[in-house]
Amino acid sequence: MTEHFRALVIDDSDGKPVAGFRDLTLADLPNHDVLVEVLFSTLNYKDGLAVSGKGRIARRLPMVAGVDLAGIVVESRNPDWKPDDKVVVNGWGMSETEWGGYTRFQRLKPEWLTRLPETFTLEESMAIGTAGYTAALAIEALEAWGKIKSDKREILVTGAAGGVGSVAISLLAARGYKVTASTGRPETLTYLSGLGATGFVDRAELAAKGGALQKERWVGAIDSVGSTTLANVLAQTFQSGAVAACGLAGGADLPATVMPHILRGVALLGINSVTAPHAERDRAWAILAESLDRQRLAAMTTIEPLSNLPQLAEDIVAGKIRGRVVVDVT
Ligand code: NDP
Repeated sequence: MTEHFRALVIDDSDGKPVAGFRDLTLADLPNHDVLVEVLFSTLNYKDGLAVSGKGRIARRLPMVAGVDLAGIVVESRNPDWKPDDKVVVNGWGMSETEWGGYTRFQRLKPEWLTRLPETFTLEESMAIGTAGYTAALAIEALEAWGKIKSDKREILVTGAAGGVGSVAISLLAARGYKVTASTGRPETLTYLSGLGATGFVDRAELAAKGGALQKERWVGAIDSVGSTTLANVLAQTFQSGAVAACGLAGGADLPATVMPHILRGVALLGINSVTAPHAERDRAWAILAESLDRQRLAAMTTIEPLSNLPQLAEDIVAGKIRGRVVVDVT
């Protein structure tokens, strides 16, 4: 086993969190029960905030960054996991309070591990990553709301060309929904059509402040943007429709009124991937296994080496990354 290995570590530099590459040994890792050889990780918006220093994601330092990892169990002190098991870890505080996936080896609590679904390779599981698994959680929440299942009216996906958006469009289209994509990047329209979107809305249209109740357009929505965009989406949702709120790429505020909720029965469903219980995770992975077209997944994914992460982090926070990025940590 490699004695020294490379990791991307966030540490304190004059009171600021700064990311840099560092050589670690197994003795540096936390004393958790399962040692995993990490083969792939990924890049999510939160990783961008953590690595670029634009958001205070790490709540203790030093912190190995990376919200996700996929790899192979090397050693386990827990009977549920054995050497050679292929595993995926999404969230559970990685990169915030727990050391994460931007490293060749990591020690993890057994309860954080998900067995790699048979449908996917380790690399594909990271092409999905937290962004894709969150898109599946959002669909799970919308379908559980019940009132939109099999509805043929339009479902809106905001932040469409990003990670959550791209996977959401692909999954919704495969499940028979009519999908409209909202993007600020007109150059991605062909890409978004390829994923299954059939309608398009300029994101500037949704970002401008609008009325409390607007013309009804959407039976459901998956929103990665927040702020005025989410307020407008709620105000444009049909009677008994539902909006799954996942993100804050446009802002963490919500300048909305209660009108869509009390006059149209619109539901606002919150999505939290980090500490979602296993049953929800399993249902989300089942949706991915059932409905994610692997060619579409490949079309939305690029692979990058660990060494490119500092630049990639800047790019995702600037809204320049299209689809999903797999990080090869080998
Ligand atoms: P990406 O950066 O890949 O996608 C975000 C997309 O939002 C961009 O591609 C862009 O889409 C759009 N966008 C970016 N900036 C703005 C802006 N200022 N105003 C309006 N739209 C904007 O990120 P992810 O897909 O990884 O994550 C999306 C969001 O979901 C993030 O806020 C992230 O923190 C959150 N998230 C939450 C999770 C949870 O558990 N709730 C889990 C995973 C992610 P386009 O170019 O098409 O307009």
